[in-house]
Amino acid sequence: MPFDTVILGSGFAGILAARTLASKGRKVLVLEARDRTGGRARSYEGGGGAPVDLGCSWIHGYNEGNPVKAMVKELGIAAHVPKPADALTYGPSGLIDPALVQKLNANLGAAVGAARVTALSTTATDASLASSLLDPSSPLFAGLKEEEKPLAIGLARTMQVGLGATLEKTSLRWNGFEDNYDGTNAAPEGGYQTVTSALQKQAEKDGAKFLLNQIVTGVTLLEDSSIEISTVSPSGENSTHSGRTVICSIPVGVLKHVPQSFFDPSLSVRKLAAIERVNVGTLGKLALFYSSPWWPSAASSITILPSSNPPALTPNSSALDLLSSTSLVIASFSSSSLPSPQPTLLIYLPTTICAQIEALPLAVVSQAAHDLLVSKMKPSEIPEGPVHAGMTSWTDDPFCRGATTTPVTVGGERTPLDFVELGKPEKGEWKGRLGFAGEHTEVDHRGSVAGAVESGLREGERIAGVLDRLD
Ligand SMILES: Cc1cc2nc3c(=O)[nH]c(=O)nc-3n(C[C@H](O)[C@H](O)[C@H](O)COP(=O)(O)OP(=O)(O)OC[C@H]3O[C@@H](n4cnc5c(N)ncnc54)[C@H](O)[C@@H]3O)c2cc1C
Repeated sequence: MPFDTVILGSGFAGILAARTLASKGRKVLVLEARDRTGGRARSYEGGGGAPVDLGCSWIHGYNEGNPVKAMVKELGIAAHVPKPADALTYGPSGLIDPALVQKLNANLGAAVGAARVTALSTTATDASLASSLLDPSSPLFAGLKEEEKPLAIGLARTMQVGLGATLEKTSLRWNGFEDNYDGTNAAPEGGYQTVTSALQKQAEKDGAKFLLNQIVTGVTLLEDSSIEISTVSPSGENSTHSGRTVICSIPVGVLKHVPQSFFDPSLSVRKLAAIERVNVGTLGKLALFYSSPWWPSAASSITILPSSNPPALTPNSSALDLLSSTSLVIASFSSSSLPSPQPTLLIYLPTTICAQIEALPLAVVSQAAHDLLVSKMKPSEIPEGPVHAGMTSWTDDPFCRGATTTPVTVGGERTPLDFVELGKPEKGEWKGRLGFAGEHTEVDHRGSVAGAVESGLREGERIAGVLDRLD
């Protein structure tokens, strides 16, 4: 007997779709390529203290309508909004005067606002966010001395962390199109994997079955209208599974690399073109765990701006040159407002250096990062290095191939409609029995946990309707 629905992937989207269908009494099988569930929810416990999230970490817009807040509450998991604490910003010559930082931030806010206004009146497909934000007449530079302008550019470049793409690659025309959750950030206690595990347990309680180490290699519609899903295990063992319907929550970075025969019949040309067009960004994290904090421990966030003449990068650049070349955003977990404080610095690896840094040995990267931070923050005594470190490898990870989708990038026929197309079920011979979920399938909340959650709920409900009609 085939399963009612086979779900490919067990991140937020796959688990939520499974929970929805299982709660309606449907027979559900979830096939996961990794040896764990959660996907890009990855809470690292190797540091010895509270788990540190190396994938998603924040519930963005916690007090501004993000539905993940209610979901986490319903699961009985606490979420913490860090108390307002000093944010420190360092430039090439050390700590920047807070009054100047305030001015730089106000200018950046005005420049982002002006870019949004310009976006509403342009049809140029090749104009980038950089062309507006960094234009000499931009509000970014209002009232600044010549020598302060590179600091303003460095601060603007911190936006690349959230974008997953450079300002030069991000489309101006579609800037601000998304209606994403913004404002208060909160972190779920125990890390985001606590949330995916709790959701998985609920789905399993209603009968959903999860199989790990099942790398899906093909999805074929058979003549009797059942769907055959082929998998291979990491040790090379082949299996097949059967379902009446399928929800694919495999990341679009992976779908870009599967052969066209992966889905048989093939996906529509419209969907294939959207898969090719959307951009998967890069973002990584480096966690440095210390026995005691040597940096100003009241600060919850530290920003390091590069010098105006950073070293030219080559494919062989050292870790220190890479880290010195860019604006770094760092979260400090020595704050007493967080549960089980562990002296940890979590460095976001932005798109300009992420792939190169992730390819270097962890010991080399962590030493270089420690040396750079010490040289910038100049503590009164030379501190001991980190006792432990952890780093992501999302860029080369075969089961996501990048961090998340980015906002629309410049050029070609790219529009936000691509994200709508990616969430559409396949019609034609598939007759809606093959659906798609995942962060990349939600136009407003793409790239976030909220988008993955909403897509899983959406596709679970839609497939439930398809199954009702098939019965
Ligand atoms: C560094 C980083 C920081 C982030 N920070 C935040 C944040 O603070 N807040 C926020 O809201 N969002 C954040 N995000 C985004 C968020 O993590 C993702 O949007 C969300 O987790 C995606 O869920 P998903 O279910 O769509 O995909 P995934 O979680 O990637 O799930 C897809 C699943 O499919 C599996 N899979 C892949 N290929 C196959 C195959 N062939 N066969 C079977 N299974 C397969 C994968 O192993 C994976 O388990 C961050 C992401 C990254 C990378």
